[in-house]
Amino acid sequence: MVAFLEVRLMSDDAKLTIDSALPGSPLVPAQLEGSAVIQFRCHKDIDCFNACCKNIDIMLTPYDILRLKQRLGISSTEFLRQYTEPFEFAKNSIGGVKYKPKQGTNECQFVTAEGCSVYQDRPTACRYYPVGLLSMRRQDENFDRASYALVKEDHCHGHLEDRKLTIDEYRREQGLEEYDEHGRPWRQLILKVKSAGPAIGNMSKTSLKFFFMACYDLDRFREFIKSSGFTTTFDIDEATRNELLSDDMALLRFGDRLIRQVMYGEKSIDLKADALEQHLARRGDRRSTVHDDMERPSMAAYEMPLDGDEEEKSR
Ligand code: SF4
Ligand code: SF4
Repeated sequence: MVAFLEVRLMSDDAKLTIDSALPGSPLVPAQLEGSAVIQFRCHKDIDCFNACCKNIDIMLTPYDILRLKQRLGISSTEFLRQYTEPFEFAKNSIGGVKYKPKQGTNECQFVTAEGCSVYQDRPTACRYYPVGLLSMRRQDENFDRASYALVKEDHCHGHLEDRKLTIDEYRREQGLEEYDEHGRPWRQLILKVKSAGPAIGNMSKTSLKFFFMACYDLDRFREFIKSSGFTTTFDIDEATRNELLSDDMALLRFGDRLIRQVMYGEKSIDLKADALEQHLARRGDRRSTVHDDMERPSMAAYEMPLDGDEEEKSR
């Protein structure tokens, strides 16, 4: 079984739970169902107001990034550069994205004296706190299961407030049903990679960069959709192409499908009949043989416009 705990935490001990494997790790807190009752309230007059936003370690989902870049009116590329830092889920494995704190501090760049300046679009982990979402997938199953963990940290006095509710009620209150729905395909991808074990170390740099772009940098991914490397490889109709060029959510969903097809051979997007020949012609590499596995051509066939890109190199 592999597990993926998405939780916003401040203490170093608690941080260790993020990548713990189940079952049996002493670092994993008790698993709770959505029907479990918690005692918690957070409000502006509480004496710890903003304490949790001043020492952050917050991972972002692709949908979190979409919401925040739309709110700020900037591109995903700008958002990633200014507000985030990348990390690897395991050595030489796929990457994730975390908030980059204000320079020289551990404070969130969006915290103000009045509270969160992006409250309506705050990320999944901020909405969940002090609950953590634990996604698990058994080796013999093709779907993930969700459970929850309650995190009690000394600085947070919300646990002392006189209000009880179930985790399901708390999730509804925090708008998490929508966030979980849109974040779920990405969580499943992470679990898929984790369940692959050491094999993930074999991913090429091109694959890892492609994963990063298609998950997190939607505006760069949109440029890729416009590129000849994409249009001569994939057979998509005009209406779909126009939707991908104008609708971030459609692009997010398509990115998930393309990653699954390119990296895992889960075909859902038609390829042009002459896709590989076109690719070889572009590269002038006519000595290469044409593979018969057109269901899952090599990553190189996609000719992503990332080479020579200084920003990508710095990641
Ligand atoms: S996004 Fe908002 S809620 Fe989340 S850490 Fe930053 S200021 Fe706090
Ligand atoms: S009660 Fe907890 S979540 Fe709310 S402001 Fe205080 S520390 Fe943050």
